[in-house]
Amino acid sequence: MKDNNCIFCKIANGEIPSRTIYENDLFRVILDNGPATEGHALVLPKDHYANLFEIPADTAAEAMKTAQTVAAMLKEKLHADGLNLVQNNGETAGQTVHHFHMHIIPRYKGDGQNILWKPGHPSDQELDAVLGRIKG
Ligand code: AMP
Ligand code: ZN
Repeated sequence: MKDNNCIFCKIANGEIPSRTIYENDLFRVILDNGPATEGHALVLPKDHYANLFEIPADTAAEAMKTAQTVAAMLKEKLHADGLNLVQNNGETAGQTVHHFHMHIIPRYKGDGQNILWKPGHPSDQELDAVLGRIKG
């Protein structure tokens, strides 16, 4: 299913031109137009799912396979030193386009980007409390 008001539906299905670097039956992979680094790409399903909670599990698995193929391609062609896979869900988590997508971000020594987080310092009791809430 497509969403007529969704720009990534239009891009994924070729109604809006994009810099496509890879395509298969289920996905189009495009260059991000606001890249974190050279070669930053987005894996877009051709069907509309708002986020990780909506995409079917088998399609999510195919998204990861597609990301793996493209990651290898970018590493080889652009000589990346490393690579981040990022996938945001919800505005609080930084999602700005509400059509599921995976970011493939090649990393280069000294690229000045920081996609990591600030680690917390919880006590054992606090970690155990979270564990209890998740498993309880
Ligand atoms: P997110 O914050 O995870 O929702 O990521 C949305 C990403 O889509 C951002 O990195 C944008 O730079 C990128 N983006 C938005 N519109 C376009 C577009 N028309 N073509 C390519 N990339 C886009
Ligand atoms: Zn969409």
